[in-house]
Amino acid sequence: MERAMISLSFDDGRRDNYRVFRDILSPRDLPATFNITSGFIDGTLSPDEFNCKTPPLTVDEITEMYLSPNCEIALHGDRHKNTEEDIETGAKKLAKWLGVPDDTVFGFASPGGEMTAEALDSMENYGRRGLLYMRCDMRILRQRRLKLFARKVSRIIKFPPIYRYAFSDTLMTDCPDRTVYSDLVLNGNTASQIISLINLAVKKKAALTLTFHTIAFTDDDDKWSWSAEKLEKVCDRLVALRDGGKADVLTSAELYERIR
Ligand SMILES: [Zn+2]
Repeated sequence: MERAMISLSFDDGRRDNYRVFRDILSPRDLPATFNITSGFIDGTLSPDEFNCKTPPLTVDEITEMYLSPNCEIALHGDRHKNTEEDIETGAKKLAKWLGVPDDTVFGFASPGGEMTAEALDSMENYGRRGLLYMRCDMRILRQRRLKLFARKVSRIIKFPPIYRYAFSDTLMTDCPDRTVYSDLVLNGNTASQIISLINLAVKKKAALTLTFHTIAFTDDDDKWSWSAEKLEKVCDRLVALRDGGKADVLTSAELYERIR
């Protein structure tokens, strides 16, 4: 790889996604992937059923984001599940809303990051429709116990190198099994921790996907929310890296296509 590749991925179809798209990403011309839980959008799944404290996006907002050149819309289950049936229901609803053919192949962000490459392989019967890729959470390739320990420590001691070490195996240089690993950004994480991992991706010319849930524009201490202020710091760093020719910022589908 010539340079690092960074992808921003937002889960569930939370209402604030639209404001993130309009006020933070679009002014900086930064692409992103939005993973939609269709039952959440059409109200057949209550936010309480998957422990979500934010209201959903509207179909109009999702369509507007889809039609903009920098957005990928991907699957995240209909009822926030990892079963073949649930993913297929989500895909059908999304295709209808976006006005695309019923057999459109979308990317898929695994709800809860619970899907494995093996489970994905056994799902090849998924109607006529496959999945472009499957995004899950972190991975650990080596020094497992030390990295799990560093992960715990990084929640208390925010010194960026500890965090960078704990999550370093999330970086990718190839993707033989359609599985895209990602760093799950949670409330306790500082912008410096995340930027430190981005800097490691730049140094190693590797691919890094960052996963977010709610982006909070006012104070919010929910575990699944991250402040807009911190996201803006990360985005400003990405703009500097992109403009300096050090990294490409891509959708998850584009990132996958380059490392597959
Ligand atoms: Zn989710």
